[in-house]
Amino acid sequence: MPIAAALEIHPNLQKFLSKKSHPLLIGGRWAESASGKVFKTHNPATGEVLASVSEADSKDVDAAVSAARKALEGPWSKMSPAERERVLNKIADLVEAHSEELAQLETLNNGKTIREAKNGDLPLTIGLWRYFAGWPTKIHGETIPVSVPYYPGAKFLHYTVREPVGVIGAIIPWNFPLLMAVERLAPALACGNAVVLKPAEQTPLSALRLGELLLEAGLPEGVVNIIPGFGPTAGAALAAHSGVDKITFTGSTEVGREILKASAGNLKRVTLELGGKSPNIVFADADLEAAAKGMFMGVFYNQGQCCSAGSRIFVEKSKYEEMVQILAERAKTVRQGPGLDPKTQMGPLVSEEQRNRVLSYIESGKKEGAKLLAGGEAASGPGYFVKPTVFSDVGDSMKIAREEIFGPVASVMPFDSVDEVVSRANASPYGLVAAVWTKDVKKAHQMAQKIQAGTVWINCYHFVDAAAPWGGFKQSGYGREKSQYAIESYTQLKSVWVDLN
Ligand code: NAP
Ligand code: MG
Repeated sequence: MPIAAALEIHPNLQKFLSKKSHPLLIGGRWAESASGKVFKTHNPATGEVLASVSEADSKDVDAAVSAARKALEGPWSKMSPAERERVLNKIADLVEAHSEELAQLETLNNGKTIREAKNGDLPLTIGLWRYFAGWPTKIHGETIPVSVPYYPGAKFLHYTVREPVGVIGAIIPWNFPLLMAVERLAPALACGNAVVLKPAEQTPLSALRLGELLLEAGLPEGVVNIIPGFGPTAGAALAAHSGVDKITFTGSTEVGREILKASAGNLKRVTLELGGKSPNIVFADADLEAAAKGMFMGVFYNQGQCCSAGSRIFVEKSKYEEMVQILAERAKTVRQGPGLDPKTQMGPLVSEEQRNRVLSYIESGKKEGAKLLAGGEAASGPGYFVKPTVFSDVGDSMKIAREEIFGPVASVMPFDSVDEVVSRANASPYGLVAAVWTKDVKKAHQMAQKIQAGTVWINCYHFVDAAAPWGGFKQSGYGREKSQYAIESYTQLKSVWVDLN
């Protein structure tokens, strides 16, 4: 098997990877794509081919949407909420039982370290299934005391019902492949919808393995359909499809705009979780050791491939030089290697394309006059590695300070005052997350009020949970994933009037 790794591959995973090619999941059956085409998916640590995967296009999207519609009319809609909870809990149990092999698969296909896959992606994925498994029996409407101004004294019973939206199209990125899939599947299924999922072209494998577990858990056929393929073909066909009632998308702001345009035909609902250029703000009165860890992890977690990466680091002037040096020194000592090696601290980027994109940002930082303190180049050898890179003396108008790089590149900038740092932090079209480091409670909460972002972390970074809403302000998107607000967005409200006169 073409896998360079220090960790023994789980036997189930060996079996999964030994398949000649991985078919699509449509209507509860595994099938080749209508065109018969396949594409190759790679191990980014070596550049070697990991597997062949059937490539869906618009014909397969049609079939998957029909299968989802049929499932909505079949046993799925007749299941009681308690039965739906049992299915979701069974899925959670199965994912938990297979978490070792799923973590390895995620590492092999995405490049992330096995430590992050095991301690981050998998527990969060299981947490999402468990949290949303608790919801079906708690989704309910209300009775509302209505008054009818043109019918004085009249009596009506008015109540609301929360119904599923219908067929959900989920289009997801490659940075947290399994987690992104389950962030959509768990709430969508809890609310009784059916889903057509298009994973990212770079990382289709964990979603396909999850598909096997969904069937094993007894999920009725067609409730989840998984169709790997490419954005401009499969993704665009799903976004434009008149049989899809809602699209949930995570990815670039540019593609988010395309999704929105494509959705106009049947006015489908859209939630968008897009990019970010998030400010991580360190005041001189912070616990500087904790802040240093937070700066490092905030920008370099998952090789920097996080929509929430804290890639604009602002440090109060009196501590600026000290903090910049700490960050640069730590960056220089990072052990890079294949994610499956337990000693590895940072894996490769997901693809050659992504590596080249990140390197071109690094070049632009050098050209525009930022000071390079660590990294600044690709690592030698096979695989798509970029050294963790730290730039200081970055100007707000430089490309590296404005655009989402989606790689291990930190831009560090000094600031003098609260008002100044607030206005600079907010001077971005994005508004996904922000973090503030200070021991002054009043200042921390004042900052939380002033910063334009969907999530503000105080003295911490990258904390997420199934119960906490997640989504952006401004061009980081709209709608919220996770939490009770996802339940709202995967249901539609019906108003019922009963004449009691
Ligand atoms: P992307 O193109 O936005 O991909 C996200 C998803 O959308 C993928 O499944 C993609 O399919 C699909 N897609 C692409 N074009 C589409 C279209 N016209 N209609 C419908 N679906 C379409 O992101 P990317 O190319 O993977 O990465 C480029 C940059 O986007 C990154 O460098 C980063 O800055 C940003 N990004 C942000 C996030 C985030 O979490 N906010 C995640 C990933 C990327 P394919 O797999 O075939 O492209
Ligand atoms: Mg793409």
